[in-house]
Amino acid sequence: MPTIVEPARETRIEGVYDVLVAGGGTAGVIAAIAAARNGASVLLLERGGFLGGHLATQLLEHSVGWFDAAGEPTVGGLANILVERLKQDAGSPGHVRDDTGYTKVRLPLEHEIFKSTITQWVTDEGVDFLTQTMAVGMQGDDQQHYVIVENKSGRQAFAAGAIIDATGDADLCSLSGCDFLNDGGAETQPVSLLFKLGGVNHSKLLDYVEAHADSFKLGVEAKALRGEPYVNLWGFGDLLQRGYAEGRLSLERNELHYAGHVRTNEAVINVTRFAADATNAKELSKAEFVLRKQILEFARFFREMVPGCEDSFLAATASCVGVRESRRIRGVTILTDADVRAGRSRTDGIARGGFPIDSHDPKGKGMDGTEHVPRGYDIPFGALVPDRGPNIIVAGRCISAERKALASARITGTCMAMGQAAGTAAALSARTGTPVRSLKVSELQSLLRAQGAIIGT
Ligand SMILES: Cc1cc2nc3c(=O)[nH]c(=O)nc-3n(C[C@H](O)[C@H](O)[C@H](O)COP(=O)(O)OP(=O)(O)OC[C@H]3O[C@@H](n4cnc5c(N)ncnc54)[C@H](O)[C@@H]3O)c2cc1C
Repeated sequence: MPTIVEPARETRIEGVYDVLVAGGGTAGVIAAIAAARNGASVLLLERGGFLGGHLATQLLEHSVGWFDAAGEPTVGGLANILVERLKQDAGSPGHVRDDTGYTKVRLPLEHEIFKSTITQWVTDEGVDFLTQTMAVGMQGDDQQHYVIVENKSGRQAFAAGAIIDATGDADLCSLSGCDFLNDGGAETQPVSLLFKLGGVNHSKLLDYVEAHADSFKLGVEAKALRGEPYVNLWGFGDLLQRGYAEGRLSLERNELHYAGHVRTNEAVINVTRFAADATNAKELSKAEFVLRKQILEFARFFREMVPGCEDSFLAATASCVGVRESRRIRGVTILTDADVRAGRSRTDGIARGGFPIDSHDPKGKGMDGTEHVPRGYDIPFGALVPDRGPNIIVAGRCISAERKALASARITGTCMAMGQAAGTAAALSARTGTPVRSLKVSELQSLLRAQGAIIGT
């Protein structure tokens, strides 16, 4: 492929911070607040127009991963403060029963309120943030790092002692030459676009569910869904198969996820999918096209085939393609599939997970694996620290984990717990001048425990 040589240029250093966080999703927002609470000056960069990451952009059905299969909490500290702030802003009822029985509870939220709640929260905590700002470069030495960004003001640099990569795709690690267990495309879960239906008659829909209970994974009696403000359904296989056989749907699926909000007659639908490398712009653009076509087909499918949805309409769609899995760094330690399956406790844990292994098949009709995890497992500090590279720590779905392990740990509750650990570690590193890789895990654990985080023994 032909190339051009760009001229060298001088880039202004617009600010100097103790800690810089790239990526304002669930992991990044909590990481920024954790770093600020531990005394660091913090800059949070987000390429999108608002904070919140997938939870906001994808209109996610709910935040999950807060409790293990035994009902023991796996996430505490700052994430619990978020729940309280959301409740105060009428942005969430708090944890409610998971009707599917997949997990014990789930946290529904109002996406528009969530965006405002977290923006107010990071501001209250003294975190500086820049939206519509993409981190595009990284350079520096052991003492000082410079992150180069592009936004409406042009190209700028920011200096920081410690960097947190919470971009989901480990963009800064990639720009810094870190090693990866998987560098993007090969064997990743599919991308999706969630959408929201308005105008649903839940009473009529629940008549259908009661009459066809075998078509749903239910953790409660179908009639127990009545009278609840939130309804979570996993199924609709019969109708989906018929819709595909009759040529109404181009995508063959044997199940979908439906998160209904009874008061507003709305539901978030998780059903579209496409196999794509989320680090490749061309593939993401193709995904945008294919998934939006699928959304129109499924919206019509609901109107024409699903009882209670005859008058439904497409109320909203996710604002960008949703990515379940892309780069996974090679860290000092790897969270293994066996660790997660066994619910392994360890002495170097800095966060806990407990969500089932939730793996979507990129090309097939459903999941290529759901496995219950018997009890919570510890996420080792070394899974957040690249095995080589600058003073950088990751949080969220790009950690050093084997594939099935990540299929559990990628969930937003767990990402928040990792965010608190990464933010606290980065602040400690900046304050003491110790690279994150050389921090004493026991010191970090003491700080985390004192600040309400749930970590192993
Ligand atoms: C379709 C789908 C359904 C899901 N359903 C659920 C669910 O129901 N419940 C649940 O808990 N989890 C669910 N998940 C998983 C969950 O959404 C993600 O794994 C989780 O949000 C990851 O959090 P994160 O903070 O690591 O990344 P993200 O939420 O992706 O946040 C990363 C942020 O970094 C920004 N960013 C990226 N690159 C750059 C850059 N170079 N510079 C600046 N900013 C950058 C992005 O814009 C984004 O805001 C789902 C995921 C998908 C795709």
